[in-house]
Amino acid sequence: MAAGIGAAALFWALDILFECHFFRPDNTYLELLLNPEPSRLWVRLLASVVILLLVVQNTILLRHRENAEIKLSHSSFLLEERTIELSQKNENLRHEISQRKTIEKKLQNLAVTDQLTGIYNRRKFDEILTLEIRQESRYPRGLALLMLDIDHFKEVNDHQGHSVGDEVLKELSRLIGNTKREADDFFRVGGEEFCLITFNVNGGSLATTAEKLRLAVADYPFAKAGHLTISIGAAHFKPGDDYDSLFKRADDALYQAKRTGRNKVVVI
Ligand code: GH3
Ligand code: MG
Ligand code: MG
Repeated sequence: MAAGIGAAALFWALDILFECHFFRPDNTYLELLLNPEPSRLWVRLLASVVILLLVVQNTILLRHRENAEIKLSHSSFLLEERTIELSQKNENLRHEISQRKTIEKKLQNLAVTDQLTGIYNRRKFDEILTLEIRQESRYPRGLALLMLDIDHFKEVNDHQGHSVGDEVLKELSRLIGNTKREADDFFRVGGEEFCLITFNVNGGSLATTAEKLRLAVADYPFAKAGHLTISIGAAHFKPGDDYDSLFKRADDALYQAKRTGRNKVVVI
């Protein structure tokens, strides 16, 4: 409003100056201000009102624009805040998902791991052997199954205690794990019974593989139990074999090894 009055007053003064200079040079400014011609006065009043209105309208428009800008910057601030909040939530969610996946993986591992020795358990053995037999039927790779059993293990428990027996099971698992070929899978399938799923690669004989394991155990000084032996029953996969038939042949071979003196390998 004040700017509008100022602008109208300025127009008023310039108009008097203009009139005095070009149309009525014999009058002073003061005379023209105090005693204007009526028509001139009307023009000035009208122009002043128009100027005043224009300035007021401009001021209102400017104020509107300022308000809109303030609102806009407030909205973008809120938007930025919301974006940060959302990306934080996203990050937390991602973290939670990866934690859940890790826990899931741990649980899955736990379900197929033997708690005492840390190697695969009977459940994993069943799964892998079934899978390998299915594969072997289509793409033969010399699949074979070895069954290992500690000789007279009961005596270790009876004479030296159950905890020494447990230690033997752990040491034996480590020993076979370090002796077997990397690609072979090793499992604890029962109390002191273990299985090895192997492939007769490079024409090596199954008996040699089994003998290597038997000797590794026979030569190994167990920390508290001293020297122990194992018997091994081994069976090649034959066309038409399923889980039961292959398992039974390896079991029969182990039984023969036990019956004919222990600390030996029998391949069927
Ligand atoms: P064989 O030469 O005929 O195999 O005789 P063995 O004494 O090894 O076999 P037997 O089946 O008579 O005994 C197996 C023993 O293994 C009996 C059982 O107490 C023991 N055993 C089974 N599981 C565990 C275990 O987790 N820890 C310990 N310490 N002993 C176990
Ligand atoms: Mg035994
Ligand atoms: Mg046994």
